[in-house]
Amino acid sequence: MEAHCLFCKIVAKTIPAKLAYEDERVLAFHDINPQSPVHVLVIPKAHMTSLAHSTPDDEALLGHCLRTVATLAESLGVAHAGYRTVINTGIDGGQTVHHLHVHLLAGRAHGWPPG
Ligand code: 5GP
Ligand code: ZN
Repeated sequence: MEAHCLFCKIVAKTIPAKLAYEDERVLAFHDINPQSPVHVLVIPKAHMTSLAHSTPDDEALLGHCLRTVATLAESLGVAHAGYRTVINTGIDGGQTVHHLHVHLLAGRAHGWPPG
């Protein structure tokens, strides 16, 4: 828990969020400013600043974050149509919240290359 981290506060439930999934290691909640009809963020509960800050010890947790995206997409009914998964990292990656999060975007076609 990082005292000044927004997403750590969502994990601690001192800031509310519309939850989509929770277990002992990860939390998923709907983005406050959705960019697609479905826009959910999957985060590790333990603070990790970004993918660039991950270590080999985080491999299982990172895999669990991705598997959570896949099972959430199934439960939200978007897996068949498909979805976009995004991890923004650092300044050039456009990361604005410095607690690792995986975006799950669905419900419309997503263009490539991204902006
Ligand atoms: P990033 O740009 O760091 O990849 O994504 C951060 C995401 O967090 C953005 O899509 C933004 O809308 C979302 N976000 C920022 N503050 C909050 C908040 O307080 N609650 C929720 N649910 N999402 C947030
Ligand atoms: Zn945090």
